[in-house]
Amino acid sequence: MMHVKHVLVLGGTTEARRLAERLAGEPRVRVTTSLAGRVASPRLPPGDVRVGGFGGPDGLAEWVREHRVDALVDATHPFAATMSRNAASAAAQAHVPLLALRRPGWVAQDGDRWHSVASLAEAASLLPALGERVFLTTGRMGLAAFAELHSLWFLVRSVDAPEPPCPRRMDVLLDRGPFSLDGEREILRRHRIDVLVTKDSGGDATAPKLTAAREAGIPVVVVRRPPVPGGVPVAATPDEAVEWVRRLYASG
Ligand code: NAP
Repeated sequence: MMHVKHVLVLGGTTEARRLAERLAGEPRVRVTTSLAGRVASPRLPPGDVRVGGFGGPDGLAEWVREHRVDALVDATHPFAATMSRNAASAAAQAHVPLLALRRPGWVAQDGDRWHSVASLAEAASLLPALGERVFLTTGRMGLAAFAELHSLWFLVRSVDAPEPPCPRRMDVLLDRGPFSLDGEREILRRHRIDVLVTKDSGGDATAPKLTAAREAGIPVVVVRRPPVPGGVPVAATPDEAVEWVRRLYASG
């Protein structure tokens, strides 16, 4: 009898959805995607979907055992470091193979004025020296890091509305990618933005802001990624992750 592999994809990214779409077409795979539940109306992938935290690494390991998961793919956002640590710990506890799917980070080009920082707090401490009108694209979580910068004005772009603590002088732009180059140019111009803050999320969907900033000669504060937990293999694309899953069932 053909053994069907149950793959649990920890999602919340475009790549996770692409991977679920690809795995749904694999005859020997059953895919479940897990979402944290942060976004009010997420774009849903094919296959089964479960929503909400597992209750730490032990809860995830228990879920994996209970639902007979054969393989785990951590396709969370490169900055979802807690979940990535939990995945590494749960995979070890439950003895299932784990792959991290991470789109490559962005690379600075000629003309870029990037300032690389290790955290949102470091970004905040650098900002007053760089500009006064900030385009903040680091997401609605973590705005507290910027809440005391009263001399700066912020344009905050996020999928859902931010909650306090937030900067006092702030406008909110509710939107989610992909974003166009023309659209990003227009935002910089209309709001007279003089500095951009971004995480090194990588990918095409949100990269046009970097081009627009380069064209306008605007400095960009780029928050570096947390590392992938040690020993976890990394795939750069959904296709590579599908190959990893195929190799698993080729070996039994
Ligand atoms: P995080 O700080 O690494 O994780 C915090 C907690 O959220 C985890 O301990 C876990 O709760 C729960 N969680 C996270 N991802 C989950 C998933 N896929 N399924 C079930 N529970 C999950 O994560 P985060 O940075 O808040 O990100 C949350 C979600 O938003 C992730 O799906 C991520 O891919 C997505 N996202 C994050 C960013 C970002 O910049 N951080 C950007 C875009 C999208 P338990 O311990 O209870 O299991």
